[in-house]
Amino acid sequence: MPGLEENVRAVRARIDAAARDAGRDPASVALLAVSKTWPAADVAALAALGQRDFGENRAQELLTKAAEVGGLDVRWHFVGQLQRNKAAAVARLGAVVHTVDRESLARALDRAGEQAGRPVDVFVQVDLGGAAGELAARGGAVPADVPALADLVAASSGLRLRGLMAVAPRGEDPHPAFDRLAALAARVRSDHPEAVELSAGMSGDLEAAIAAGATVVRVGTAIFGDRPLPCDGDQISPAT
Ligand SMILES: *Cc1c(COP(=O)(O)O)cnc(C)c1O
Repeated sequence: MPGLEENVRAVRARIDAAARDAGRDPASVALLAVSKTWPAADVAALAALGQRDFGENRAQELLTKAAEVGGLDVRWHFVGQLQRNKAAAVARLGAVVHTVDRESLARALDRAGEQAGRPVDVFVQVDLGGAAGELAARGGAVPADVPALADLVAASSGLRLRGLMAVAPRGEDPHPAFDRLAALAARVRSDHPEAVELSAGMSGDLEAAIAAGATVVRVGTAIFGDRPLPCDGDQISPAT
């Protein structure tokens, strides 16, 4: 799959350039390939090229694809809205959950991590605002609620707090939103020094996220191409 190889190389070059522009070590920014809607064969092809981290936003699709790629050395990440009743299955896969935005989900994942015998790595998802109506599809805790949620995660033996995650509001300059995220992340890190990760930046705004300190960028379209059908988290544009 030469297309995939070129694309992932181009994305990595964007990441490296953005890191250098920000005076950061390019190795401090990890690339999470968001493979939602794309077949397991694409995951396998990228894994053969050395890509290790893959993200999905639907639990069933994650479980199916993980089973399809079987024994490959990949690490799964969940970036969609997670129902409590899917927490245990996601935890058993050893997936990193980027979207913990409420206490009930944190508690369900905590139980799941305890049952699985290894803590679940989690990010607390922050709602950075934006047009009404987007939030229902996207999730995220309002910034005022984030420190308490981070405290809860940090105090849960079945969870490991990695940091904060967010999606920039659509149709706006992402820099101010990512700066607000970075300030909140610094505050959380002052209480929880282990929360060193920041999951922010997608195909369209990864440079802005890296300038604000992102350590994980979640990239789908720039690697795999346009998704055949819109899915959760996509902008539904009237033109399509
Ligand atoms: C789909 C998705 C991405 C990847 O978006 P692209 O614009 O395709 O790079 C990143 N994060 C989340 C939460 C997503 O749902």
